[in-house]
Amino acid sequence: MKLQDIKRSPLQSQSWGLRAGSALGKLIPVHTAASLRNVSCCVSMTEKTLNIETSATTVVDRPVAAEVRTPSALNQTIREGHYEAALVNLQASKADAGQASIASVLKAADPATTADVTIVGAGPAGLYLAAELARRGLTVNVLGLDVPIVNNYGVWTDEFQALGLEHTLECSWPDAVCYFGEDKEVRVGRGYGRVSRRKLRAHLLSICEAAGVRFSSAEVADIQLVEGGKLTQVTTKDGTVYRSRLTTLAAGAAAGKFLRYEENAPIVAAQTAYGIEAEVEGYDRAYPSDLMLFMDFRRHHTGLYDATALNVKAGRHPNSGDGMWGSSDECPSFLYAMPLGGKRVFVEETCLVAKPALPFAVLKRRLTRRLKAMGISVTKIHEEEWSYIPVGGPLPLASQSVTAFGAAANLIHPATGFSVSRSFREAPLVAEEITAALREGLDVAAASQRVWDKLWPTEKRTQASFHVFGMELLATLDLSSTNDFFNTFFRLPSYYWRGFLASTLSAGQLIAFALVVFTLAPFSIKYKLIEHLMTDPAGGYLIRAYKAQWDTVQEASSTGTAVAAVLIGNELMTHAVLRTLADQAAAAATTI
Ligand SMILES: Cc1cc2nc3c(=O)[nH]c(=O)nc-3n(C[C@H](O)[C@H](O)[C@H](O)COP(=O)(O)OP(=O)(O)OC[C@H]3O[C@@H](n4cnc5c(N)ncnc54)[C@H](O)[C@@H]3O)c2cc1C
Repeated sequence: MKLQDIKRSPLQSQSWGLRAGSALGKLIPVHTAASLRNVSCCVSMTEKTLNIETSATTVVDRPVAAEVRTPSALNQTIREGHYEAALVNLQASKADAGQASIASVLKAADPATTADVTIVGAGPAGLYLAAELARRGLTVNVLGLDVPIVNNYGVWTDEFQALGLEHTLECSWPDAVCYFGEDKEVRVGRGYGRVSRRKLRAHLLSICEAAGVRFSSAEVADIQLVEGGKLTQVTTKDGTVYRSRLTTLAAGAAAGKFLRYEENAPIVAAQTAYGIEAEVEGYDRAYPSDLMLFMDFRRHHTGLYDATALNVKAGRHPNSGDGMWGSSDECPSFLYAMPLGGKRVFVEETCLVAKPALPFAVLKRRLTRRLKAMGISVTKIHEEEWSYIPVGGPLPLASQSVTAFGAAANLIHPATGFSVSRSFREAPLVAEEITAALREGLDVAAASQRVWDKLWPTEKRTQASFHVFGMELLATLDLSSTNDFFNTFFRLPSYYWRGFLASTLSAGQLIAFALVVFTLAPFSIKYKLIEHLMTDPAGGYLIRAYKAQWDTVQEASSTGTAVAAVLIGNELMTHAVLRTLADQAAAAATTI
């Protein structure tokens, strides 16, 4: 079945881009090896393709319900890419001759020597943590695939500046712009940057080299406890064995097969995006070319009304009744774009979160139609990107003898898909904990527990339950509610929305955040928040996490402290509401 035929597919209204509930028991599409060949071809013919829709991905339909019998099996299937696994692997296996191989820079790991720490995975999180550990005097082996950094990372510039990494940005913009609803432009008021994959990789290799990190190009197949629990033993696919006092998985989101997770948490969801870096005509007529476009949620992708989407109201599309694109049931997606200078842009149609994932084919079609409707024509494609980011789901258990870091340790923000800045920010803290545990001579289980407690203490687990709740709510909203939500979100004092995005608000501050959102949100969102809290499994997950923290607080200190915490939370909320109202009054006065 070709992409163009999807409209006529019997699956179309329920499975392609419409809110359809869980993937369990449903027919959903998969990409085959044949589709992989097609897409591969798109990547290599970087300078020829003018119409991105005609480089169509072939899809076939296949039920997955029979394969995934338990929640943990389903979670792992989703972490590995679900029915988009072929394109996820294609994205991960891109080449870049401009990045030196890791083995050409770092000394080889020696299987005959027991290291202090083995890190599995040489992505950004693994290399950064390895350098932090080696800098503290530990011997560190990184075992990973010797592949380049291939994802296009975007970050808030203040976060990269705080990390001393601004020299790894290749482009930055003083502000980011959003559109939530027709003609409603919102300036975020925060600089955004695009990470240079080559500069970041060169930086990571140089800090690893300077600290004495060792590396072997290998795929890890097995991890065991040996020597009566004093050492871990990692076996690679070719049978080589490495031993160390602790092993940390930094092998990305799919590393879950080596880990154990909490039970009774909502199933993993996915953020998907299809993007192109291209030469285009007409971008500067559609968007400000000196700003980053963070989210354009307008409905230009509906396609049937090329260049007139502004006139079509949500749910009023002539084909709404047939469940076609542009209907009120449609799973929302938005345009994310980086103007790179001249006519070069990176444009990506993104679905913030969905269950099941919004297919790349749907995103590609929407991107094509959106660009056409906005009067942007593509003259040359340099690169395609398939971004699949598993978000939310259960957190790893603290009582296990292997530790993790980065995406493998659920450091991905459930509601944004971001993790790079957070991983870099937390690496020194985790390195400090590992160093202390090993210096104290703890065995593997005790050292691992200490690291997990540092990564995911009760307080952070509670925060995560809040983020998961927010993400699950977003996964149920239609386009107009999504716009209402974000209009409210960006009206909050920047301390709150920045803190939410950066995962820096405490569990108490998040309650204050929720109360401010509730106060400012339109009635429809208030209703959905309450309904979601009462009826969605994420509501129960949130309540259980807060209760567990409440119990801990009561155990650890007097009831007076707990009451004080509530009063402080209330104070914070009142302060935030007053500040927001004052900001709004000032903005209204300025406008007048
Ligand atoms: C296309 C794309 C764009 C993204 N954009 C952003 C963004 O703009 N901002 C942001 O913050 N986040 C972004 N993310 C999300 C997330 O931050 C990235 O996935 C990030 O790369 C995670 O870093 P990591 O080092 O934890 O894992 P990874 O980058 O996934 O690195 C893991 C490494 O481990 C290796 N590995 C896997 N299994 C094994 C094994 N068994 N043995 C040995 N090695 C193994 C892999 O080959 C890989 O090199 C994006 C993700 C994708 C896919």
